[in-house]
Amino acid sequence: MVDIKALYELQLVDTEISGLESALADVRTRLADESEVKRAGERLRRLAAQFEEVSGERRSAQASVDQLTEKIDSAEKRLYGGTISNPRELGAYEVERDMVQRQRSGEEDKLLELMVQFEDLQENRDKAGANLDTLESERAKNVKAWTVDEGRLVSELEAQSGVRSRMTLDIPPAALSTYEMLMKARDGFAVAMVERGACQGCRISLPTSVEQQTRISDAIVQCSSCHRILYVD
Ligand SMILES: [Zn+2]
Repeated sequence: MVDIKALYELQLVDTEISGLESALADVRTRLADESEVKRAGERLRRLAAQFEEVSGERRSAQASVDQLTEKIDSAEKRLYGGTISNPRELGAYEVERDMVQRQRSGEEDKLLELMVQFEDLQENRDKAGANLDTLESERAKNVKAWTVDEGRLVSELEAQSGVRSRMTLDIPPAALSTYEMLMKARDGFAVAMVERGACQGCRISLPTSVEQQTRISDAIVQCSSCHRILYVD
């Protein structure tokens, strides 16, 4: 004799178990997935490296402007110091000073551009750092909560597995293997209720004889359409 109700109840437990298993897989995926923090860390490192690079360029542009300023100053000292009176020599110094001034003006434009880049990068780097800090502390909090969830799910699963083992002891092996085969083939839905003369697995109306058989039979009766085990409450 097969107790169809026991198979139906086993299915309830199996549904519970598969829900717990997917919740556990989900929480473990989240625990293992550090990609968000990693990405934020990579972004910070990239910005910090760019910032260092632009800092260096800015320092050398500044040094170059300073050096050219010194050149201009010394050219002007010669021009206006009164030590040179030869007009040709003065003219040559003027030409040189003007050239250096143009050069400096070019370097100053470059420096200005670098300073803008420097400030932007500094701001972005600081924001990326703050973002990383936030993500890390959020993750640490989440990891704590998820670890608690994981532990709870593991013990619930153990408990339900124990329940399942005890339930299967009372089910004839042939019936259990039919049930298990159908669970696989029908995606975790092996036992279907009969309601208003229809199989609730596939919604198809059952012949009256099959419905009758389901009510009185001690053996498994399967739906002729979806082959699920029929159960009348
Ligand atoms: Zn059916």
